[in-house]
Amino acid sequence: MRVLVIGGGISGLASAFRVREALKKANIQHHLEVLEAEDEVGGTIRTFGEEGWRVESGPNGFLDSKPGALRLVEALGLEDRLLPADHAAKKRFIFVDGRLRKLPTSAGSFICSPVLPFFARLRFALEPLMPRGPKDESVADLGRRRIGPHAVERLLDPMVSGIFAGDVEKLSVASAFPAVKNLEMEHGSLILGMLARMRRRRRESSSGGNTSGGPAGPGGHLNSLVGGMGELLDALKTALGDSIETGVRVDSVVANPEGGYLVFLEGSNEPRTADIVISAAPAHSAAAYLSDLDADLAGDLASISYAPISVVAVGLREDVLERPLDGFGFLIPSCEREQILGCLFDSSIYPGHRAPPGHVLTRTMVGGARSPELALLSDEELVNVVKKSHHKTMGLYWDRPSYLRVFRYQQGIPQYPVGHSRTVARIDSSRMRHPGLYVMGNFLSGVGVNDCSSAAEEIAAMVASRGSERTAQIGG
Ligand SMILES: Cc1cc2nc3c(=O)[nH]c(=O)nc-3n(C[C@H](O)[C@H](O)[C@H](O)COP(=O)(O)OP(=O)(O)OC[C@H]3O[C@@H](n4cnc5c(N)ncnc54)[C@H](O)[C@@H]3O)c2cc1C
Repeated sequence: MRVLVIGGGISGLASAFRVREALKKANIQHHLEVLEAEDEVGGTIRTFGEEGWRVESGPNGFLDSKPGALRLVEALGLEDRLLPADHAAKKRFIFVDGRLRKLPTSAGSFICSPVLPFFARLRFALEPLMPRGPKDESVADLGRRRIGPHAVERLLDPMVSGIFAGDVEKLSVASAFPAVKNLEMEHGSLILGMLARMRRRRRESSSGGNTSGGPAGPGGHLNSLVGGMGELLDALKTALGDSIETGVRVDSVVANPEGGYLVFLEGSNEPRTADIVISAAPAHSAAAYLSDLDADLAGDLASISYAPISVVAVGLREDVLERPLDGFGFLIPSCEREQILGCLFDSSIYPGHRAPPGHVLTRTMVGGARSPELALLSDEELVNVVKKSHHKTMGLYWDRPSYLRVFRYQQGIPQYPVGHSRTVARIDSSRMRHPGLYVMGNFLSGVGVNDCSSAAEEIAAMVASRGSERTAQIGG
């Protein structure tokens, strides 16, 4: 069986790794190829290590509240390279009313927290009395109904920026935060649902399970690897070896009259043949190479929009700081009208691992669905925006940082608007029309490294079952 994977980001590499594992287990002879357009695999994930700095261009970790990434780490034998976030990273900040304020982490601290005005805290407390909403609505609509407009402005808006670089008014709560919608559906209340979940966790942990919350916030502890997220990619690269081909861009995928698919590469008339094609490139790329095969599928893929985001990494000598950079970092609600989305204190999240001794590393996010034009500024302009914002938000002044690098993602994070679940259902249903073609990636059912890793396991199970059926047919 010839399996061809398009795209060498975490979705494509994890799928290739899991497919090979599943086919070997099922004793199915196969030939596996991963085709990556760029000269390096990794896609959004890349770690740059220079002179004691270890700087992520994209994700800085994954939560242990979902199992996908941890299972992948284990399967690659990287458990002893896991790097949990420091406990101090539990402290997170939000920039409201012109200053940084600590986000409350418990009901007690929430009652006294100045993050929300007093009347808005009272409104929040009425949440269990509020009615259930429709199946699909925006995060802002659910929030306004359940916890009030102030909490949407100051809590949900920055949360949506922090994860999706998205717009709270447009993102679908059911698609982007299904766990939140499930709490409402199952318990009629987010607060009561969370309390029930905490009680269940406590019961499970007292019976031996390890489900405690941690520095990533409730319900999850953030983890990376000692060498950064790039180490996960390197391990996948090593495991897949010669199966990976870089610098080859897929141009089109069409049905092979003899069965399976013909995959054409840019600049070549000689197609590759495949029985199974796993499309793991971003939706806009997949739309382009699948348009000859299925215009409807391509139309659905093309309709998925992405928010551009730029990341400005600034490393400084510790002695230029007036106050230590402790905690995870901060987010800024749109109502504050600042030019940055927020800033991560990477060297405090993973102390001793991301900056040389005596230095700190920050990464500031600019752009997103909120202000896409800012992500597209020149490097110099971006650095100036970040410099001004650091001064205003943290009182931090720098002129010549010890480390400075700008990472750009023109099509950074896919957006899941209200109605996204219908688009996903139509894309998934294309499997019926095109047996052996699996479209996957972070634009369907979760943007996290965890989601991409779990999706890879699901695809591998489907490929193995198709392989077993075919083997049985040939054998029979
Ligand atoms: C700034 C930023 C911070 C983030 N932080 C976190 C975080 O802290 N935690 C977390 O869990 N997630 C985070 N994410 C999200 C997560 O990193 C991504 O969702 C995930 O890495 C996407 O992986 P992917 O393989 O689906 O897509 P991609 O990484 O986009 O990979 C797709 C690959 O396909 C290739 N390709 C495209 N077209 C073709 C073609 N025609 N032929 C061949 N190859 C092609 C591309 O070159 C690319 O390598 C972050 C994302 C960004 C942008």
